[in-house]
Amino acid sequence: MSVKKRTSKNVLLDTALENFYGAAEEMGLDDDLIEILSRPERSLCVSLPVTMDDGSVRVFEGYRVQHSTALGPAKGGVRYHPNVDLEECEALGSLMTWKCSLAGIPYGGGKGGVSCDPSELSMTEKERLTRTFAARISPIIGEWTDIPAPDVNTGAQEMVWFMDTISKMRGSLEPGVVTGKPISIWGSRGRTAATGVGVATCVRELLKSEDIDVNGARLIIQGFGNVGTYAALSMANSGAKVVGISDITGGYYAADGIDVQKAFKHVSSNPKRTLDGYEQPGLKKMDGDDILSQETDVLVPCALEGAVNAKNAASIKAKYIVEGANGPVTPDADEIVGGMGILVVPDFLANSGGVIGSYFEWVQNLNGFFWTEEEYNHRLIPIMTDNFYRVWNYSREYGVKMRRAAFLVAIKRVADAVKMRGTFL
Ligand code: NAD
Repeated sequence: MSVKKRTSKNVLLDTALENFYGAAEEMGLDDDLIEILSRPERSLCVSLPVTMDDGSVRVFEGYRVQHSTALGPAKGGVRYHPNVDLEECEALGSLMTWKCSLAGIPYGGGKGGVSCDPSELSMTEKERLTRTFAARISPIIGEWTDIPAPDVNTGAQEMVWFMDTISKMRGSLEPGVVTGKPISIWGSRGRTAATGVGVATCVRELLKSEDIDVNGARLIIQGFGNVGTYAALSMANSGAKVVGISDITGGYYAADGIDVQKAFKHVSSNPKRTLDGYEQPGLKKMDGDDILSQETDVLVPCALEGAVNAKNAASIKAKYIVEGANGPVTPDADEIVGGMGILVVPDFLANSGGVIGSYFEWVQNLNGFFWTEEEYNHRLIPIMTDNFYRVWNYSREYGVKMRRAAFLVAIKRVADAVKMRGTFL
């Protein structure tokens, strides 16, 4: 490779670039493709004057980066956080390119956000900020150009303001301009459970590939929020034994299996939506971190990044880790658990049910038609299964870890598209 490598002071971007160059070198990617794919296609910086509730005006900074549209419209979230800047959006946008590519959906990758502390903003200030942001980036977003979605500190309400602003500016309804909308306003049934159902699909196929009977296989699921609960419910429905769950209030272990339905009801019916106070016969309560090192076949971290790290990696007893959260196993922990013979199914394969679900919402919006939840899962599970085996088979054939295999498969699909489409514009 004779390309001069780009580096960045932003850790996220520097790591994304390093990972990309490493994979590109390993797969022998042409220099011109490396040059093209190591840069975003388009970056837009906008200033956002917002009238605050007290009548003063504050000017915020916003960004939208389209890393690649080789496979289809850019797809990626909108984040409201004080750390948001252009380089962070560039890094996260490139990760979305690889994630959508690996997911096998017709999307490129993008990311955007506003540098702000949303906890300091009232609802009306947030609405004005969101509508101003949507208007300022409107020249580059649209159903067939770039489709934002919720990310850190944004949700269904922000997406509705976004869609409403763009639709009114264009004088015609454009529901597919964003995904993550509520079911009542062009959202999709099945989306809430999609990421967890996708994670569970990976766990099931992994067990099958390793000749382990799903019925009775033991699982520990860290994090009992959106991803963790639906992964747990889906695995329990398949006959697996969820022996441990945890959330911010601690770890809950039962050697004979947690009653997942009961735990789900407990969480859904208390205002804080936590496991605090959950009881069942044979339940052992422990520290949240201790749940990670209990005996199990599969550990499924679905909480935060860095859950399995250099400090606790050596204590993991699972044979497999399936990453439901983003980045739950740190790079040094990845080396340690790899050395212990633990197989890791990487996040951007395991939790891609979320972005596949966004694609389903968009497809329904473009057709003005609504699927049932059964129809949704009927389409989601085969796609997740195919994606799992694409990575599994590559990993077996070339003797590389699943994480590296996933990255190589993803980059190849984008690189092939860039090559075939050529360099015009
Ligand atoms: P969530 O907020 O609904 O749930 C997070 C859960 O983790 C909560 O139960 C919380 O109590 C628990 N938790 C927090 N700190 C913990 C700790 N120290 N120990 C144990 N539990 C802890 O979030 P979510 O939507 O389920 O997302 C979880 C992860 O999955 C994040 O990394 C997110 O980026 C990723 N992800 C989510 C989606 C999605 O569709 N929701 C899609 C892709 C990736």
